[in-house]
Amino acid sequence: MITYRIAKKFICKIGITAAILSSISYRDVAYSAQPVPTTTPTASTNQADIEDEKPIYPIAEKIIRANGLDEITWRLKVDDEYEFNAAATDLNQIILLKGLLDRVYGDDAAIAFVIGHEIAHHTQKHMYSYTAYAAKLTKQMQAEVDAKVQNIIVTETKKFETARSSKRRSKLLCNQDIAKKTSLSVAPDYLALNCQGKPDSNKIEQLKQQFTAEKEPEIYSQLKKLSRQLEFEADKFGYIYMVRAGYSPEGALRVLELMSRSPHPGSDDTTHPSFNDRLNAIKELMNKYPAPSLMAEGKIRLRLHPNPLTYDMSKDGQSLRINSRFGSQRQASKLK
Ligand SMILES: [Zn+2]
Repeated sequence: MITYRIAKKFICKIGITAAILSSISYRDVAYSAQPVPTTTPTASTNQADIEDEKPIYPIAEKIIRANGLDEITWRLKVDDEYEFNAAATDLNQIILLKGLLDRVYGDDAAIAFVIGHEIAHHTQKHMYSYTAYAAKLTKQMQAEVDAKVQNIIVTETKKFETARSSKRRSKLLCNQDIAKKTSLSVAPDYLALNCQGKPDSNKIEQLKQQFTAEKEPEIYSQLKKLSRQLEFEADKFGYIYMVRAGYSPEGALRVLELMSRSPHPGSDDTTHPSFNDRLNAIKELMNKYPAPSLMAEGKIRLRLHPNPLTYDMSKDGQSLRINSRFGSQRQASKLK
């Protein structure tokens, strides 16, 4: 079903991947409440498996802390797939693809925008909004399809009864000999009934499939429209998040400008707005939410919570777990 397919994963085509992050510099960081360590007191049991994530962890950690998003654990994963893309999946998991990181290598602010954007998909509950909307549309569609089929059954039953009474054939309507002589039993005349004038389950199922197939493009179109709205919202919060953490908003412009060089998708029938529209939206945000104000907000939070969140490998060994401030405090107390 539509709902199931959509619910599996919220793919976010932002256009960046995380590949060569081994030497990320901090020159794009506008300020730093405290130097962000590249290692934490809590060594992972298997550091080798989160080597790709470690270079971008300080960026994600700072965004999370500067925006008060540190009450819950996050997971960060660099995927080997070489595409210019990132994704928000599962609960609080952020995935950056290596093809993206390669293209913005060394540009912390650009990476911060991508991470902020994916974090926003989670904090704004976009997966829930999207799947709930898909479920609602699917339910509406099923109700419409059922009503349509029911109407056909009612109409055809009347037609059948009229034909039967006029021809005075109350029995043997399915008899092959009679079938050859009367239109009553000719299947194409009845979309939903069998030759006895009763609803035919196979025909009904076919009708439902046909009506559903006719309706699906409209549903996908509505979902794509919502998806585009959510992308704009993720850009908005992504921008706010990254700037609060002290990263220059120019990083967002650089990412989107780079993406806008890719081929035009060709129509509005996409899940994402055009990169030019996203670029313009960021420029508007820069006026609406000036960077100095956002940075000042973040600076206050960072001063209140100066200790970087700790990290470790996730229990499934698939990602780097950025511990919440509670988890970080627990680890710190263990070390004492
Ligand atoms: Zn997105």
